[in-house]
Amino acid sequence: MQKLSIVIPAYNEEEAIEIFVKEVNKHTIDLPLEKTFFFVNDGSTDNTLKVIKQLSNDHENIRYISFSRNFGKESALIAGLEASDGDFITVMDADLQDPPEMLNEMFVKISEGYDVVGTRRISRKGEPPIRSFFAKIFYKLINNISDTEMVDGVRDFRLMTRQVCNSILELKENNRFSKGLFSWVGFKTTYLPYENRERIAGTTSWNFFGLLKYSIDGIVNFSEAPLNIATFVGFVSFLTSCILSIFYFLKTLIFGDAVQGFPTLIVLILLLGGLQLLSVGIIGKYIAKIFLETKKRPNYIIKESNIKSN
Ligand code: UDP
Ligand code: MG
Repeated sequence: MQKLSIVIPAYNEEEAIEIFVKEVNKHTIDLPLEKTFFFVNDGSTDNTLKVIKQLSNDHENIRYISFSRNFGKESALIAGLEASDGDFITVMDADLQDPPEMLNEMFVKISEGYDVVGTRRISRKGEPPIRSFFAKIFYKLINNISDTEMVDGVRDFRLMTRQVCNSILELKENNRFSKGLFSWVGFKTTYLPYENRERIAGTTSWNFFGLLKYSIDGIVNFSEAPLNIATFVGFVSFLTSCILSIFYFLKTLIFGDAVQGFPTLIVLILLLGGLQLLSVGIIGKYIAKIFLETKKRPNYIIKESNIKSN
């Protein structure tokens, strides 16, 4: 029988984990695949690790990796994918926001010849409206300025073949933005729609600023547009200053020199100073990314695990 690896990043999910395993088992009885769970404990501060260890004692098909601290979901994802050994791999949240019953339908699609079957929320029910609003803007923006397409509402919940998983693992960059990476590697992909679900327990680890930072990372990682905009704005202000200097030169020749325009001067200094700082900031963002990449630090550090060497 072919094998399915279920990768689950978990950060402070003590209440959700047991229910998660139960629900997944319940809904995938008919799935003709041998399941193995790969939990990645992302430096939880609650009893998540204890719960996972207990489960792994009771069930033979539960593996875990535990990080030395919180490295973030992207790192947990990559650790899980690296540890996975299945012919098919799926990534799921521990909070059951990703409906396990969809795995059946997803596997049907894979059998039909798709390499990746993703999922897409068609509603954002239960989410703060302000978050949905900014999410909409983000997807509009990034799809306009990046060559890599990012579909609105796509979750990390997807089922993929071993070949796709290996391609993702080939991408060695440290700054990982999964939504973009999956789109970048290509392959025959389809998305199944579903209605948003609320998490069964615990709280989301995202806040507004976390999401804002995540969006900016996504843009910087997958687009050079901010750099081009900075260049363009610089060019336009240079051109304007050329035209204005000719204008003032002629004006002085014709009408003589009257000392005027102090407010204009202040406004212009502030405007140009602001634009310069903004551009330096944008360049700085990219340099910071380069700096981080060149250090070649690992994405995560494992403190303990029940997976033999891989
Ligand atoms: N998660 C993680 N590390 C983190 C934050 C979150 O591994 O630093 C996990 C979390 O346990 C969950 C998944 O990533 O399984 C999605 O997180 P969450 O439910 O908070 O995000 P949302 O569903 O609200 O987008
Ligand atoms: Mg969630």
